Amino acid sequence: MGQTMPPPGRSGGGSRTSAASLAAAASAATTGDRFPCEQCGAVLTYAPGTSELVCAYCGHRNRIVEPMVEIVENDLRAALEKGLAQAPTEETRTVKCGACAAEFTLAADHHAGTCPFCGSSAVTDTGASRRIKPAALLPFAIDEAEAQGRLRSWLSGLWFAPTKLRQYARGSGRLTGMYLPYWTYDSRTETDYSGQRGTIYHVPVQVRVVRGGNATYETRMVQKVRWTPVSGHVSRFFDDVLVLASRSLPSWMTDRLEPWDVQDLRAYTESYLSGFQSEAYQVTLDEGFGVAQAKMRSALQMDVMADIGGDLQRIDRMEVAHGAPTFKHVLLPVWLAAYVFGGRSYRLCINGRTGEVQGERPWSVWKLLGLALLIAIAAALLALVYGNAPQGY
Ligand SMILES: [Zn+2]
Ligand SMILES: [Zn+2]
Repeated sequence: MGQTMPPPGRSGGGSRTSAASLAAAASAATTGDRFPCEQCGAVLTYAPGTSELVCAYCGHRNRIVEPMVEIVENDLRAALEKGLAQAPTEETRTVKCGACAAEFTLAADHHAGTCPFCGSSAVTDTGASRRIKPAALLPFAIDEAEAQGRLRSWLSGLWFAPTKLRQYARGSGRLTGMYLPYWTYDSRTETDYSGQRGTIYHVPVQVRVVRGGNATYETRMVQKVRWTPVSGHVSRFFDDVLVLASRSLPSWMTDRLEPWDVQDLRAYTESYLSGFQSEAYQVTLDEGFGVAQAKMRSALQMDVMADIGGDLQRIDRMEVAHGAPTFKHVLLPVWLAAYVFGGRSYRLCINGRTGEVQGERPWSVWKLLGLALLIAIAAALLALVYGNAPQGY
């Protein structure tokens, strides 16, 4: 029943895809087709904050049947050696943005015209591809209306924000519910290190002081450090180290959406995706583990420093061994808005669990010019007032 609105006017060149073929991709890519309403046949969509699918037309509600499975951790080394064969995969139909390279599925009730990540209209059908299947997800906890509300309070007081941005806050600009792809890694680490422990001590030193023309010697305490070579071993188990598997949004933005309540992850079931879109991962399992290792290493440095003890620490060597690391692919929910302003795109995203808002906000040139004009007028008025005043001393 998903109504497809015609895509808005295309700006610039880019590969051209007809509205009809995108509409076809939308209905093929949507997961909503698989959840028809028992009463009216319309698409049931996931109702954020609940465990139910709801029909937007007749209000019929259906409880989501949670899969009775444990969230499975996959053997990372086997997956890296043997490729996708070692992890459960699924085939999904996606579309791709020619401007920002985001690749994502479409939802039945969202039009296919513009890219939710950057606002560009250069969206083309890429067909079906096989990828590692998500093992778990965090469902949306806040709905679009609440996300709009969060956006409104974030925007309040932003006097210089352009009108286009304000439309999102008023609710006239639709937000897109998108599941972002993440990898999580578990690893039992064993680290051998060598370094030095610094102990601070003070020694008396004679210094020459000139006071009132007379030179004398005084004793001062000077700080010194004694370094002792040390070596040792630290162990630490890392659980669910999160790595974003997408490059569609700037990392400063996605980093600030944290923390995510990964302890509440639920086993993956498609019902939670009905009515929402999901992005395909672009960062490979291998690249993701590189990022995770760097995160783990900085935590391990703290462990090593604590183990070295003393007043100051130096680390000369750190050898980290990862015993049987595991991974899983998870989806985390965000509400997205993107719009093009002054020839570049601006992005806003809202954590679909906590309502945390992050965004790029341009200054409206017209409003800034307006303010400059007001200041100029005020200055001119002041000059007039003081200009008419008697020029006395
Ligand atoms: Zn219905
Ligand atoms: Zn894009």
